[in-house]
Amino acid sequence: MNDDAGTPPLLWVQTILFASTFLIALIGVPWYALAVGFDWTAWLGFVLFCGATGISITAGYHRLWAHNAYKAHWALRLFYALFGAAAVQNSVLSWVTGHRRHHRHVDDNDHDPYSINRGLWFAHLGWMVRDYPSGREDFSNVKDLERDPIVVWQDRYYLPITLFMNFAPPLLVGYLTGDWIANLLLMGVARLVVTHHSTFLINSLAHRWGRRPFSDGCSARDNGILAFFTFGEGYHNYHHKFQTDYRNGIRWYDYDPTKWLICGASWLGLAWDLKRVEGFRIREAQVAYQLELAERRLAESASDDRWRLVLEKEYQHFRSCLEQWKVLQQRSYDRGRERFAAASREIRRSARRHARALERALNEQLRRLEALHLEMAPA
Ligand SMILES: [Zn+2]
Ligand SMILES: [Zn+2]
Repeated sequence: MNDDAGTPPLLWVQTILFASTFLIALIGVPWYALAVGFDWTAWLGFVLFCGATGISITAGYHRLWAHNAYKAHWALRLFYALFGAAAVQNSVLSWVTGHRRHHRHVDDNDHDPYSINRGLWFAHLGWMVRDYPSGREDFSNVKDLERDPIVVWQDRYYLPITLFMNFAPPLLVGYLTGDWIANLLLMGVARLVVTHHSTFLINSLAHRWGRRPFSDGCSARDNGILAFFTFGEGYHNYHHKFQTDYRNGIRWYDYDPTKWLICGASWLGLAWDLKRVEGFRIREAQVAYQLELAERRLAESASDDRWRLVLEKEYQHFRSCLEQWKVLQQRSYDRGRERFAAASREIRRSARRHARALERALNEQLRRLEALHLEMAPA
């Protein structure tokens, strides 16, 4: 059943907040720029505050609290809780309960709070301005977070913290520089609108626009352009496949400032237990998906024995890689149990080399399968 049969009532506070801040950013900010002008301190405040609020949502609300992708020192958690509140996207508990439901029921119109199947606008913002049953909160999936005193404190005092974090920094910079209107407009309102829509893009466009290298089982896409506007969250197909990885952009050069921040924090001792899916497992998922696609294509077209033979060979190669990987894993597990120390260093090194060789083999197979898809495509 779809819950907008009989449109639910408008939520006035949310509607007025989104509409008024958007109009001020659209009209008030350019008008002030032309009439009075913003000096460099206002722009610097805007950029730094944008970064602090945006990254608190992506590294804190999302990767730390929603997905437990790593563990963080209380000082870092406090930073995320304060600047995350400045983003005005609700408390950690409310945000995470909805996001975990999004992952669990992705694209299901009745249970995914921001299902893309209800339209781009609904997934972007519409879901927040009406009292849709699919968006109602149910905190049963965030029991683990209730053990974090910072999360509980932020939830209890969410309104005063949010008001303080939105007004105090711009007013302080305004007091120091002598132009509090400029800072309220730029650091306050324009910054809020930018971070709002940067996050909302992940629920809307990142489920519509881009490639699906890992699975077409859900609508999430990988898109490097969106990653640029979302602090690295644009690699959303990967994220939906491996949601506990602290990275979203897995190649070292993928634009993912959130993963760089988490990695940097780990060097400083502020973050630890960073979860990272092994390269082999990632390639395995990609090759399995490409084989599945080839299989589907073969089933759709009139069966062609030539392709069937090629595909059978590819399956054999895949199975052999998986078999070797299993043996390798078992060996290192046994060795770990026996606690080989210095003597096994060379063995461990050779196991790592073997693992990398297997990963490369799957990577080459992936290229072959992609080329095969082009050949199999109807002319
Ligand atoms: Zn998603
Ligand atoms: Zn997520």
